[in-house]
Amino acid sequence: MVSLSDIVEQAMCIGCGLCQGISRGHGVMLEKSANGFLVPRVTGNVSLQDNAIILDCCPSCTLNTLPIEARDEQTRLDPIWGYYRRIVHGYAADDSTRFLGASGGVLSALAIYLLESEQIDFILHARASDIEPTFGEACLSFNREQVLQAAGSRYGPTAILVDIREVLDRGQRFAVIGKPCDISALRNYAHHNPAVGRQVRFWLTLVCGGFMPPAGTTQFLRDHSIDPGQVTKMRYRGHGFPGPTHIETTGGDQFDFTYQDFWGADYKRFTLPHRCKICPDSVGEMADIVAADPWPGGGPDPNNLEAPGNNVILCRTSVGEGLLKRAAADGALVLGAEGSPRLLNDYQPHQVARKYTAWPRLLGLKAEGRWVPKTAGLRIQSLAESMDRQFQTDQQDGMQKRVRQGKASDALVSDD
Ligand SMILES: Cc1cc2nc3c(=O)[nH]c(=O)nc-3n(C[C@H](O)[C@H](O)[C@H](O)COP(=O)(O)OP(=O)(O)OC[C@H]3O[C@@H](n4cnc5c(N)ncnc54)[C@H](O)[C@@H]3O)c2cc1C
Ligand code: SF4
Ligand code: SF4
Repeated sequence: MVSLSDIVEQAMCIGCGLCQGISRGHGVMLEKSANGFLVPRVTGNVSLQDNAIILDCCPSCTLNTLPIEARDEQTRLDPIWGYYRRIVHGYAADDSTRFLGASGGVLSALAIYLLESEQIDFILHARASDIEPTFGEACLSFNREQVLQAAGSRYGPTAILVDIREVLDRGQRFAVIGKPCDISALRNYAHHNPAVGRQVRFWLTLVCGGFMPPAGTTQFLRDHSIDPGQVTKMRYRGHGFPGPTHIETTGGDQFDFTYQDFWGADYKRFTLPHRCKICPDSVGEMADIVAADPWPGGGPDPNNLEAPGNNVILCRTSVGEGLLKRAAADGALVLGAEGSPRLLNDYQPHQVARKYTAWPRLLGLKAEGRWVPKTAGLRIQSLAESMDRQFQTDQQDGMQKRVRQGKASDALVSDD
C-alpha cells in the first residue's frame, strides 16, 4: 500500500493540498521541499480513516473520467478530449475582465456571473500568494473585485484544497476553479464527503500543460539578474493575451517579459514537475467546463502578443452547457464559432502527445517498481496501443531510464 511519503519520494505529489485539507492541518501540513515544491509532511497522528480517505482521493493515486451521473444521451466521447457536449470559442463580454484574464477571461466572467446572479455564494480558486509571490494560494471570492484580483494563470505551486473542510463547513454553495488535478482530487473526495456533492454546484477548470518547477522560475529570474528573494510580485500572464510576465521587486524595479521569454524560444525552458510529465488527465475530464487557449499550432503568435483575449471552451455536462448558454444570453460572455475535438488537437498538440504517452510512461514507472495511479476511464491504454509498438517501447524505456538516472525522485525537476 502506498503512503504519503512514497508519493513525495517518488515525485508524484502535485501539491493540491487535499491531504492537509482532509486532516484539517492536524496531521498533515504542506511545506516547501528542498526543491521548492509544496509537499505534505506528516506532523501528527492522522486517523486510520482519514489516511485511507487521503490515499483514495489523492490525484496521484486515483484519476477518472466524467462521473456517469454527469453524462446523458447528448454526451459525446472523444478518445483524447473525453466526454463533451459542446466546443465553442468565446470571451468575457466585459472588456476589463477579458483584458485581465489569462486568455479571454471566460473563467473569471463565469465566476462573476455565477456570483452576481446568486447561483452560488462564493468561488474557491487561486490568487497570487502574498508570502511567496511566485506561488499561487487558495482564495475564496465573493464579488467581482475579488474574482478579478485572482484572474490570470499561476505557474508556480498552488494548493487550492488546503482548507477544504473549513470551506465546506461554511455550508454554502460554491463553484470551484482549479487545475484538472485539483478537480480530480475534490471529485474523488466527494465519494467520502457528501457535502462536496451538495455544495459544489459548478466544476470549472483549464487545460493544463503543467506548472513551472520552482527551480525553473528561480533560474529564469537569475538569468535576468533578478534576485528571487527581492521579488514582491509576479504575474505570469493576463493583461493581454497572453500578456507580459510582469515582475516587481522590493527595490521598486519593474520588469516585463514575453510569454516566450518565460517558457523559452521553442519552449526550451519548458521544464515540468515529474508528475506533470506523466499526467493522465490534464484536459480536465471531470469538470463541467474547461477553458483553454485557442492557439493554432499550440502557441501564441509571437508578432501579436497583445491581441484581445479569446478562449476555446469545452463543455462536458448539461450543467456546464446550461451555464454557458445563460451567461451568453445574459450578456456575461460572447460566444463565437463552434469548435471540434480536431480543432482542439491543433490548438493543443502537447495535450494530444500527453494522452498517447501517459500509458507507456506509467508502464515504465511500474517496471521500475514504482506504484502508479489508477486511471480507469481515461482510455490511455487504448490510445497508446493504437500507436506502433516502437513508440510504446521508446516511451516506456525513456521513463525507465529517467527513474534509473534519479530524475523521478523526491519532487525533482524534470529537465527534458
Ligand atoms: C499551470 C497552468 C498550465 C496551463 N497550461 C495550459 C495549456 O497547456 N493549454 C491551454 O490552453 N491553457 C493552459 N493554461 C490555461 C490558460 O492559461 C488559461 O488559464 C485558460 O485558458 C483560462 O483562461 P481565462 O482567461 O478564462 O482565465 P481567467 O479568467 O484568467 O481565470 C483563471 C482562473 O484560474 C484560476 N487559476 C489560475 N492559476 C491557477 C492554478 N495554478 N491553480 C488553480 N487555479 C488557478 C484563477 O484563480 C482564475 O479563477 C494553463 C494554466 C495554468 C494555471
Ligand atoms: S497530490 Fe495532493 S493529496 Fe496527493 S499527496 Fe500531494 S498534496 Fe496531498
Ligand atoms: S499537468 Fe496534470 S498534474 Fe500537472 S498541474 Fe496540470 S493537471 Fe496537475
